[in-house]
Amino acid sequence: MNTSSETFLYDRNINKNFDFNMWFVFPGPESFALSSLGYLWLYRAIDMMEDVNIERIYSDTKTTRIMSNKVDLIGFSFTFDMDFLHIFSILDKNKFALKATDRKDSDQLIFAGGPVITSNPEPYKEIFDFMVIGDGEDVNLEAVRFCVENKNMNKAQKLKELAKIDGIYVPNITPKVKKVTKKLTKCIYTPIISENAFFKNTFILEVERGCANRCGFCLASYMNMPIRFVDYEKIIETIDLGLKYTNKIALLGAQITAHPDFEKICQYINDKIESGQNIEMGISSLRVDSFRPKIVRTLVKAGQKNLTLAIEAGSERLRRVINKHLTEEQIFNAIDVAIECGLHGIKFYGMIGLPTEKWEDIEEIINLSKRIKSKYKGFEISFGFSTFVPKANTPFQWFGRETEKELEKKSNYLRKELHKLGIQAVISSAKWDYWQALLSRGDNKLTDLLIEVYKQGGKLGAFKKAAKELKIDTDYYVLQNYGYEKALPWDFIETMPGKEFLIKECEKLINL
Ligand code: SF4
Repeated sequence: MNTSSETFLYDRNINKNFDFNMWFVFPGPESFALSSLGYLWLYRAIDMMEDVNIERIYSDTKTTRIMSNKVDLIGFSFTFDMDFLHIFSILDKNKFALKATDRKDSDQLIFAGGPVITSNPEPYKEIFDFMVIGDGEDVNLEAVRFCVENKNMNKAQKLKELAKIDGIYVPNITPKVKKVTKKLTKCIYTPIISENAFFKNTFILEVERGCANRCGFCLASYMNMPIRFVDYEKIIETIDLGLKYTNKIALLGAQITAHPDFEKICQYINDKIESGQNIEMGISSLRVDSFRPKIVRTLVKAGQKNLTLAIEAGSERLRRVINKHLTEEQIFNAIDVAIECGLHGIKFYGMIGLPTEKWEDIEEIINLSKRIKSKYKGFEISFGFSTFVPKANTPFQWFGRETEKELEKKSNYLRKELHKLGIQAVISSAKWDYWQALLSRGDNKLTDLLIEVYKQGGKLGAFKKAAKELKIDTDYYVLQNYGYEKALPWDFIETMPGKEFLIKECEKLINL
């Protein structure tokens, strides 16, 4: 870990008197960790505890400051399905048994939280001692605090007590767990700014959490219901804090432009730029209804060169099915605004293999592109596509994927036809997305498979080989449509508004 390039935005007590050691692990490279808002914010909170000595560990950490045999608690931030490979590698490298049952009673507790765990923790039930379900800011701290105060309590007793905390799932102890949803009383931000970060020297702050659009496949929307906004004043205070340290800021949120004061926030930045301050501001993506000149102009002034517009599907019919009510007219308006504000191109983001998709819907992507190309000569468009992956706790969780063959046929066709129009299309791998779907709808019977995949190197072939050796019918998890009456592995998580609501949403969408 190279801390010399890091600027801490909080007072660190490096001489504190601790007798509790913790590893806080990001199962990816350091650069990604240093651009991960949730991970860094939690690190800050634990680092500020007077009696805890915390160390950040990444997949590319070579040596650790705290020896593995001196660690009292290990926490993993689990954001992407395939992170399990790094998690196993870090445990293995440091000689920790992968399964909780193979670890000794005297061993430290190992836990995890993050979107993967919140959506469906079941494939990892045998790996972690406990897991955090939902917004982690408070629950993680409560769990760490408990472990610090009860350092000498035996493991079984600790787990029994931890299971009493809302949002903590202790396998084989907690029959049901309530997903925690937090009010956004603070504006959270990256408390460390680093040139080693993927987004170099960038101050990232959260403007809102969730998305009210509720596309049927979208975990970011359903996992974070209801959408919550940070107060305007708190956002401005936080922007001012960040600007003391860097001129690069990024606003985060799945639907930031839905913030009731988003235009005011843009105006605030705009005024600073107008008064001569050099500010670069980035946002992840804009919703089409927020492609308003005032907003886009500020973003362009603040250095944003490309804008991404998620259209999700080519045809208006399919967009209605997934709950993305976006018309062609709105897309054209967005391009008009982009051109008016000096942008030379837009990147569209979409998905293929969505429930009810037909070839006509794929054709419509080509037709839409042709219409854009002929109306806006010289304006650059490009596409990024992923293939549909059913996610637990979303209305489309009951739908299986199309076969790999069918998805590859569609991908190749799109690539070829868009290429003819001079449009670049980057499409995710249907093969990898298949295994992602296995994890997202998996259950506790997959643990041995995951371990085997890791042992065999974690490549595509390893998944196939491990499934064959262990005789696991992976198509059951990935391709099959499930009935509403089916008990799902993640049903024990109590979410708001719950399964009945998801069924209603699903029915409403697919019958459009
Ligand atoms: S608009 Fe984007 S973030 Fe919002 S629900 Fe749809 S896919 Fe998710």
